[in-house]
Order: sequence, then structure tokens, then C-alpha cells
Amino acid sequence: MDQPATLLAAVQDRIAKAASLARRDDPVTLIAISKTHPAEAIAPLIAAGQRHFGENRVQEAAAKWPALKDADPGIVLHHVGQLQSNKAAEAVALYDAIHSLDRPSLVAALARAMDAADKRVACFVQVNIGAEAQKGGCAIAELPALLTEVRAAGIPLAGLMCVPPADTEAAPYFALLGKLADDNGVSGLSMGMSDDFETAVMLGATHVRVGSALFGAR
Ligand SMILES: *Cc1c(COP(=O)(O)O)cnc(C)c1O
Repeated sequence: MDQPATLLAAVQDRIAKAASLARRDDPVTLIAISKTHPAEAIAPLIAAGQRHFGENRVQEAAAKWPALKDADPGIVLHHVGQLQSNKAAEAVALYDAIHSLDRPSLVAALARAMDAADKRVACFVQVNIGAEAQKGGCAIAELPALLTEVRAAGIPLAGLMCVPPADTEAAPYFALLGKLADDNGVSGLSMGMSDDFETAVMLGATHVRVGSALFGAR
């Protein structure tokens, strides 16, 4: 495995090349997904200039990130993956963005938690883009109604998020998420992981979530 700074530069370079091929000049935010990796593995990326990080478990993030954030106030912490409503208050306290808002009960829990904390956390609505039974995300048919609820609750809507089905070509799903965003007047697109982030950038991703290409295998 190369040094973290080398891996970071390589991923940034690949994002820049994909954006240039797609004739894009708007920014793409690289979120380094640090789940399962200890603070000692994260620190070199912070030192190399990375500021956006993502975790998928509230407990794990609460153990690792307050100290790292204290050391560097510019850090932006994202939550990816399933979020239970009973963790809403902790999530609002800990995170700067949440990428897995996918049901009315979670809209209500997060809105209550944001009001109580007097803190607004930007949220991406996760779409179950491949209609997979086991996956998180709202059904495509339910997206317009859920977006109406998010807006009515005063939750800042950052965009749409998806995780396409494994072991299939991701591009059609990324294109579909882009169409859903257009149809519903949403601008952000959180899509693309280590295996497919360049494709996602070419199809309009504003946020890519990259773990193993930066940290190695989990
Ligand atoms: C783990 C995870 C990622 C990063 O996956 P890699 O394949 O390691 O890049 C991105 N998004 C979500 C929702 C994840 O859970």
C-alpha cells in the first residue's frame, strides 16, 4: 500500500480527469470514508489536506471524531449508511451532513433533534435506486412525497444519494439518480465509491464517497 498522501493525490487526480472529460467545472467533494479505520490511519489524510470524512456507525464516529475535530476545526463529518431514529439526537450533535434520510419517521426524528439542538444538518435523501429488498433508501415512487416532508420540516436538503446494486454496471443507476434529482428540483448528487467514482463524476456526482481506494481494504 502506498502512503496515504500518495493515495489521496491519486484519487483527487482521477476525479479531476473525470470532471475534465465530462466538461465539468463545478466542484466535486471527495468524502473519505474512514469506517473501521482508527484515528492513526485518519491523521495522515488530515495532514495531507483532506477535510471531508464519512462514517457509518454513530457509536464508532462518536468514539473517534470529537478529538480529531477539536484538533482541526475545518473537518466536515458525514454519516453514510442506515440511521436509526433513536440515534437522531446523537447524529445531529456529531455530524455536519447525513446521507441516509430515507423515511418519514426519520424526517420527524431529525427535525425534532435539529430543533432541540438549534443546529441544522444538511441531509441527502437516499434512494433505493435498484429496488433491492435488503437495501436502505426510499422507493422511487415515494421520493416526491418524502422530499415534500423534508422541505416542510425545515431540514436543509443537500441532494439525493444512492448505492447501486453490487456487481452490476453502476452507470445506469447514477444516470437515473441524476434524472430524479432534475425532476424534483434537487441539485446535489452523492454517488460513486472506490470502484466507480469516475463514472459517477462523469454522470454529475457532486459528492463521491471513497473508502478502500484511500485507506486500503477493510
Ligand atoms: C463503505 C461505504 C462507502 C465506501 O466504500 P468503498 O468501496 O470502500 O469506497 C461509500 N458509501 C457507503 C454508503 C458506504 O457504506
